Amino acid sequence: MNEDLTRRLKLCTSLPTPPSTAVRIIDLANDPNASLMQIADAVAFDAALAAKMLKVANSPLYNSRRSASNVRQAISLLGTHAAITIALSFSLVGGLKSGRQSREVQLFWQRSILSALACRVLAQHFKLPADDLLLSGLLQDIGVLALQTALADEYVQATAAASDHDQLLLAERAAFGSGHDEVGYWLLKRWHLPDHLAISCLTSHIEPKGEIAVNANSCVAVSGYLADVFLKPTDPVVTLRATNAASRWLGLQAQALTDILNGMREGLKEVEDLFDTPLIEAAQADALVAEAKELIFIANLRQTRELEERAQRDALTGAHNRAYFDDALNKEFNLAVRHAWPLSVAMIDLDYFKRINDTYGHAIGDATLQAVTRVIQSQIRNGDVFARYGGEEFVLLFPGTPGEAAAKVLSRIRETIASFHHTVDADTSFKVTISIGLASHVNGEDAVTSGVDLVHAADRALYLAKAQGRNQLAQAVV
Ligand code: GH3
Ligand code: MG
Ligand code: MG
Repeated sequence: MNEDLTRRLKLCTSLPTPPSTAVRIIDLANDPNASLMQIADAVAFDAALAAKMLKVANSPLYNSRRSASNVRQAISLLGTHAAITIALSFSLVGGLKSGRQSREVQLFWQRSILSALACRVLAQHFKLPADDLLLSGLLQDIGVLALQTALADEYVQATAAASDHDQLLLAERAAFGSGHDEVGYWLLKRWHLPDHLAISCLTSHIEPKGEIAVNANSCVAVSGYLADVFLKPTDPVVTLRATNAASRWLGLQAQALTDILNGMREGLKEVEDLFDTPLIEAAQADALVAEAKELIFIANLRQTRELEERAQRDALTGAHNRAYFDDALNKEFNLAVRHAWPLSVAMIDLDYFKRINDTYGHAIGDATLQAVTRVIQSQIRNGDVFARYGGEEFVLLFPGTPGEAAAKVLSRIRETIASFHHTVDADTSFKVTISIGLASHVNGEDAVTSGVDLVHAADRALYLAKAQGRNQLAQAVV
């Protein structure tokens, strides 16, 4: 962490510190042999905490058939690990939240508690330990609280322009050399909290890379975005950001994500009670969840369409791919036969393309393929299908179009490409030409019996165009 910032935090006398009950429980959390009795002792020491533990143990969440009538039973019902984790959650929040709070600090706790709720619901969805995740969610942004306290107005000013949590982190780093992720890690280590809690401050702010890994850290990362959905109910961008985060980090799609939001909605009242923090009115919560659902499904639909569209395209040129063409060819051939419509197919191959790669390099070769694609796409009609057939070979399908009409379009394309200057640098440019083989099907007159036959005929014509000197169109006689 930035040295100057560390020094300032250390000098700050009002830096958040855990209350004495929490300190005792932290000791137990670090002790692998902590006994049930020790935990019960520590909890009973704090009447408010004891009452909460009893409430949690008897809540439907832990749907135990037995009910606890005292702290000792409550802890036994919960189990030592869960009891420690839950006790830590309440004792930390209870102690840190006491006293008068500024609007910023109130907001901080609302967001943390909503994140914790999101974490618990995500944990249930993915069958991860819910209490641990709740605590990680609660503490992931504790660095913000430290920065707010230690730097006061300076912090408010430096972060005033940040409109969301990601921007907040960037603004902190720009102004103070480190963000609340590092500060949170530093603070939780100082409090001697178990390592995994401190570490999740860091990891929950790192962008996911490559394959989706569903784990505690990715859940904590997504929980902040979900909290914002409840905190900023009128901003659709917030919901879209949450949709995006849930999909990138956890692979959650629309239905699963709306289930999670519903789960949060259902748990709201309970966490408000347990953490003594009003979050959001019930009616407002219902309205925002309904609105968020609509947005999520719209976003999902758009994403699905984009994915489908991408699956049909060639990555380099953006032309349709071979699979899409084969499908279209089949359909159009059947239609042509059924309705006695004409159908034309052209194979297009760049002339001496290997020389371009050899002379100017593969990147220029790629750019040439892209430029040729743009020229062709600008000259064809909407219903025509243009695809990259492979390498530097393209194919064009003209539904409802007889040979002469297709030949006219193709000649114009050939001439435009032949006159086009491809620029390498300020002093160098070159031209490229194409050869075209055209085959047409007119029902009743032609010998071909399938779309594939038509492509073969176009291919033979292309061979002829090459043999006759290139930069020309040859029409097949089928
Ligand atoms: P012809 O006039 O007989 O068609 O000659 P040609 O050089 O165009 O034909 P040939 O089949 O010998 O070479 C085609 C070249 O196209 C070879 C290959 O490296 C290149 N090529 C194929 N796909 C790509 C690509 O995606 N990018 C680049 N830059 N080159 C490619
Ligand atoms: Mg070629
Ligand atoms: Mg070739």
